[in-house]
Amino acid sequence: MHQDLQLFSELCDYLLAEEKNNPVAQPIATSEVYQKLNLSLDDDGIINQELISTLKSIIKHTPKTASKSFFNQLFGGRIGKATLGDLLAVMLNNSMYTYKVAGPQVGIEKEIIDNICKLSGYKKYSGGTLAAGGSMTNFMALLMARDYKFPEIRTEGISQKITLYTSEASHYSISKNAVLSGIGRNYVRQIKTNQKGEMSATHLDEVIQQDIADGRIPFFVNATAGTTVLGAFDDITALSKVCKNYNLWLHVDGAYCGSVIFSNKHKHLVNGLELTDSFSVNAHKMLGTPLGCSIIITQHISQLHHSFSNEADYLYQTDGDDFNLGKTSLQCGRRNDALKLWTLWKSVGTKGLEKIVDHQFELAKIARDYINFNPDYTLYSFEDSISVCFNYKDIPANLLCTGLYEDSELMVGFGKFNKKEFIRMVTINTVLEKEDIHNFFKTLETYASKSLLKNVVN
Ligand SMILES: *Cc1c(COP(=O)(O)O)cnc(C)c1O
Repeated sequence: MHQDLQLFSELCDYLLAEEKNNPVAQPIATSEVYQKLNLSLDDDGIINQELISTLKSIIKHTPKTASKSFFNQLFGGRIGKATLGDLLAVMLNNSMYTYKVAGPQVGIEKEIIDNICKLSGYKKYSGGTLAAGGSMTNFMALLMARDYKFPEIRTEGISQKITLYTSEASHYSISKNAVLSGIGRNYVRQIKTNQKGEMSATHLDEVIQQDIADGRIPFFVNATAGTTVLGAFDDITALSKVCKNYNLWLHVDGAYCGSVIFSNKHKHLVNGLELTDSFSVNAHKMLGTPLGCSIIITQHISQLHHSFSNEADYLYQTDGDDFNLGKTSLQCGRRNDALKLWTLWKSVGTKGLEKIVDHQFELAKIARDYINFNPDYTLYSFEDSISVCFNYKDIPANLLCTGLYEDSELMVGFGKFNKKEFIRMVTINTVLEKEDIHNFFKTLETYASKSLLKNVVN
């Protein structure tokens, strides 16, 4: 093992150097990936130098999500203490289902849940758990809401037409989860948004009334804190009023930007959170832990048990239910995703997490200011968002993004809202500074002028 840890350390040094010197790895076409890299699994193994050089070539060509040129997704960068915690979790290799097997790691997870409940304004009977990602924590919310309103579904299955509501700007996992839960895609209502991408409470009310008139039973509304493209925040208080009226479960999908609960300056964006039934947040997005670290909390701790506990004598042999986390989990064996968030939180404090969140908004403002002061750009996103959406000189966003990637200049993606396609640059990497944001634009501009020239010559 010691030898492998030494090798690990050597490979990490190599990775860090690559990240710095070649921040956007040379992409390999899918048709060539098996020719250019030694990925095959063969009868005979390889050891020592051959294995090391194979691993290095794989590292070299793997996209560098922690580099200063990665703006492509809703995660990025690397925070030392969080990475340390995750590496430790791998070494310890516990499964979170019982106290007997995970020991104090259970206490760590519960401490995280308790604190997130408090920060969210959740009251006495609240609790939660972790799952592999936001799609799964959203799935858990949907299942709890379904079982809360229709307890018989757990034994009898679905026999009525039941409907759920989410905005047209929300994450695709909501529809996908409707499929997985047996509700069906046709019973997901896509509610209209305003110009800023926020769900309309008025339209929600209308659609609910129509469904009731048509003999369907509404049960669940999903609000989003940070929509995937524009980073918009739905008005939780307004939606909560509608939900109270019709007795519907209100979930907040905060996978992207739910971490604003840590910021005194920005937590107003989730005003009304204390009125909701469940809330999910990805620490692997704004808080910068390694993937994946998704937390779900609910104000109905008993529903968490009702929906997810199953008796298993061979598993639950010691300790109270409180410390046997398998009783409230979607999975059986479950990776320890709590430790990485705990090591980060413990080392920087709640105030440190606040700084992490605030810094991302500051970086986004720097980017928006840059765009606003430069007539070659068109801005599509709004304040209070860490997604900076824009076009440059009317160059089609997908051409520019693809070119930047293929020529190893930058990794940035594009998105669509109201039929407009634009570049979406995300300032979620807390390690970045003002100059890195300016470098992003300089790189993009230089590249655009070069490739425009190329086109003229061609
Ligand atoms: C990223 C995201 C999800 C999905 O989270 P995963 O961890 O990728 O499964 C859900 N909702 C929103 C709003 C997101 O941005």
